[in-house]
Amino acid sequence: MELLGATLTELQEYCAKLSQPAFRGKQIAGWLYNKGVSGVDEMSNLSKPLRTLISETSTLSRSRIVTGTTASDGVLKLLLELTDGNRIETVVIPYPDRLTVCISSQVGCAAGCAFCASGGLGLIRNLTAGEIVDQVLTAQACADKRVTNVVYMGVGEPLLNYENVVKSIRLLTDEVGISARHITVSTVGVTPRIVRLAREKMQVTLAISLHAPHDDLRKELIPLAGKYPLKDLLAACQIYAHTTGRRVTAEYVLLAEVNDSIADARELARLLKGMLCNVNLIPYNPVAGIGYKRPGPLRVAAFRKTLELADIPVTQRFERGDAVMAACGQLRRSEMAEGESP
Ligand code: SAH
Repeated sequence: MELLGATLTELQEYCAKLSQPAFRGKQIAGWLYNKGVSGVDEMSNLSKPLRTLISETSTLSRSRIVTGTTASDGVLKLLLELTDGNRIETVVIPYPDRLTVCISSQVGCAAGCAFCASGGLGLIRNLTAGEIVDQVLTAQACADKRVTNVVYMGVGEPLLNYENVVKSIRLLTDEVGISARHITVSTVGVTPRIVRLAREKMQVTLAISLHAPHDDLRKELIPLAGKYPLKDLLAACQIYAHTTGRRVTAEYVLLAEVNDSIADARELARLLKGMLCNVNLIPYNPVAGIGYKRPGPLRVAAFRKTLELADIPVTQRFERGDAVMAACGQLRRSEMAEGESP
């Protein structure tokens, strides 16, 4: 049995099989998710014979840090190696009053977004709940501080790894102690799964990668979106917002001359009118070898103003140093270019 990623109930069942009292399960959960240990031997309130028994009947898989690069503003980019040799990336972003971690949900990605560094690489496999939680624990250890916010905005499409992502969210809230309201799941918009997520009754923020005000352009930018028309997607977002009482974030990556005109902004405002949502504008972060460009600051400001005049709440993602949260897959991609990663 793999310990990291197991729920408290699963750990208690495991202890019962070893003829141990249930409170041992609670102790193990504390070591895993609160203390973030990397070996059973560190569980010092368990007897030596019990630790040996656990070691013989379970595994505790933690990632290995391949590289950790800190930018001048303190943003830390981690390249992590999983036990099977696959590599993923995690970004740790310190703010004065919080510590945010941007985590990956899959190795590679199947969404194929035209502008994204992970787009052409394809999906290798889903991450387990343990591998998702590991990223938060590793970030916490590197920063020597409690993580307060988690965004599922690294590599992968979280809603195409639904079970493991939901399990990881429950572990982060119930065991690691992160408030669900401080967790954001970003998706290309897998409509049926959004409705299902609404029913989980979790208070997580849902972010939709919108990126275009109409289906034709959206399909071009996000091939997977072809399966999920905007009309149905936005209806699912309304269900999510009304079931959870939480405003949905519509992410909009601004690509010069592609989706950044005033006409696009007006069309976007019409599309979102009356919805419980806000728009998060993300000036594109250029990727080597991909032709899209970031619009200039005046163009970004005009786009923003147009939305605001139409009463659409807007936030803007500001880049911090060279380490950008939106740099989905860029680290892994550059490593692969150097031939270092599978
Ligand atoms: N698969 C999920 C989550 C991963 S990416 C999703 O698509 O929502 C998180 C956000 O960063 C998405 O909105 C994605 O479109 C955006 N993104 C990816 N590459 C980017 C880049 N180079 N510059 C700006 N935003 C980017």
